Amino acid sequence: MVTELLFQKDSYLRRFEAVVVGLTSDGVILDKTAFHPTSGGVANDTGWLYSGERRYEVRDVIIDKSSGEVIHVLDSLEGLKPGSSVIGELNWERRYRLMRLHTAAHILSAVMYSKYSSLVTGGSVEPDKAKEDYDIQGDEKEVFSKAAEEVNEIIKRGIEVKIYWLNREEAMKIPGIVKLAARMPPNIETLRIVEIPGVDIQADGGPHVKNTIEIGKFVLLKTENRGKKRKRIYYTVEP
Ligand SMILES: [Zn+2]
Repeated sequence: MVTELLFQKDSYLRRFEAVVVGLTSDGVILDKTAFHPTSGGVANDTGWLYSGERRYEVRDVIIDKSSGEVIHVLDSLEGLKPGSSVIGELNWERRYRLMRLHTAAHILSAVMYSKYSSLVTGGSVEPDKAKEDYDIQGDEKEVFSKAAEEVNEIIKRGIEVKIYWLNREEAMKIPGIVKLAARMPPNIETLRIVEIPGVDIQADGGPHVKNTIEIGKFVLLKTENRGKKRKRIYYTVEP
């Protein structure tokens, strides 16, 4: 991967300068980017690239399966070539909601695991809402509504979210992180750690808010029983 992922150091960076280093049939590869591609169950950013007088719409951001490159899918590639300087700008409203919902997802999975011994089995975060499946013994409606209250209690504590890097060996010593770290590609020597002290710690590459208070109110929208290991929750954050 050649692209420097600026959002991993600063999730609040909305505008950045970059250089086009490659073109695909419908997009560009940049030397660095603040755009988060769809990954880790979190939806992609959208926004704009500016070059000279032109404005390009960033419609999608994906990781190319074969090359591992981050591709910014644009409405047009006209006038862009390797070496072109661009300014990138995120659709911040969308991104900030993704950050709030994604951080809420960490708290929910921590509550579900520590209080109800329930493991997340899948899920996705979109700007308007998130959904996750859990392995729950018993009545999912009751468990999820109690968990939602506990998530709101934690949010209100105003906990600073810490981001730091650890080498693989050190990271593997942290209880609870091992299963996640083991899922990562073996060639990664340094893991990005996202810690909500006293609540959750994970190896994770995505954007998060700096303080739990920014999440706002966690709102349970709906629950569904989709099978033994697939008790689903839909939730959002307000306002
Ligand atoms: Zn995360």
